Amino acid sequence: MPTMSSWQEYHMPTTVADALSLLRQYGDQARIVAGGTDLLLELQSSDHPPLRALVDVTRIHGLTDIRAEDGWIVLGAAVTHTQIERSPLVQEHGACLVESCRVVGGPQVRNVATLGGNVAHALPAADGAIGLLALDAQVQVCTLEEDGTLHCAWQPLLSIYAGPGRNTLGHHQMLGAFRFAARRPRQSSAFDRIMRPQGVALPILGVAARVTLDESLTQVADATIAIGPAGPLPFRAREAESVLTSATYSDELLAACIAAAQAQAQLRTSKHRASRAYRQELLPVLLRRVLTRAVAQARLI
Ligand SMILES: Cc1cc2nc3c(=O)[nH]c(=O)nc-3n(C[C@H](O)[C@H](O)[C@H](O)COP(=O)(O)OP(=O)(O)OC[C@H]3O[C@@H](n4cnc5c(N)ncnc54)[C@H](O)[C@@H]3O)c2cc1C
Repeated sequence: MPTMSSWQEYHMPTTVADALSLLRQYGDQARIVAGGTDLLLELQSSDHPPLRALVDVTRIHGLTDIRAEDGWIVLGAAVTHTQIERSPLVQEHGACLVESCRVVGGPQVRNVATLGGNVAHALPAADGAIGLLALDAQVQVCTLEEDGTLHCAWQPLLSIYAGPGRNTLGHHQMLGAFRFAARRPRQSSAFDRIMRPQGVALPILGVAARVTLDESLTQVADATIAIGPAGPLPFRAREAESVLTSATYSDELLAACIAAAQAQAQLRTSKHRASRAYRQELLPVLLRRVLTRAVAQARLI
């Protein structure tokens, strides 16, 4: 494990403004820490000199809350995977997020690892990010301007991704929260993934989908499909979504939707996890599973 010598100071601010003014003050000599499950491994493995400061965001008021507000379900960026797994609100409105967060690591990891850390780490296969993307979630980015003004703005989730492992945030910015729309009638979502049996970090492939049926319950009126890893960023299979909403739901339509996802997804071989060919085999299996489950559930509610 990294020792205190990996950093000199450990700050625990209780407001976003205080956290950001510390980050502004220290510039690239400071990093945000939440659960530390990614960051501490990174500090341990990297050979850069010790940081001046870590800024712990888990004591910030409101950052660990989950609440319903004006038709949205809002999750603070420092909400842990365990909190999400146990939240009746997220269970009711964002099933695919619950399902994606409850398979992350083991209980010890889920008890401290946060959704903000999962997204800020910006890996295209991160489970929480895939669950959020299928809910068409937004992210709140908080910025401390040079004149000391703090503003927080909602933007599309994918807007903070710059590439694998890289986000767009500057030293004066942090993630404050996530939000997704409360569940509509005849709407449901599901997530599934394939993991190496001995795997402890990222899945071979993860898929999440949200569907909304029309009033006749025979056609998908609206669909969101997220796949990871299937490109440099968490991937929205928009062509597959269009196919799924184009006609009456049937086995043939499902097959066409899967074919569209296969054609659009950039699956690749990764040294320690899986070959491209294996991922090509898994994508139809997982997509069929999640869509079948989400559609069946949407017919009931
Ligand atoms: C044993 C093990 C198993 C794992 N299994 C999985 C798995 O199955 N699936 C999966 O997806 N991941 C897995 N992970 C990865 C990891 O647990 C998650 O990515 C986790 O959600 C990271 O959150 P954290 O709070 O620990 O982030 P930290 O390590 O604290 O931070 C990660 C990065 O995000 C930044 N950051 C954190 N919070 C914010 C914020 N509010 N605003 C801006 N930047 C911020 C930090 O500066 C850092 O760069 C695993 C990790 C371990 C060690």
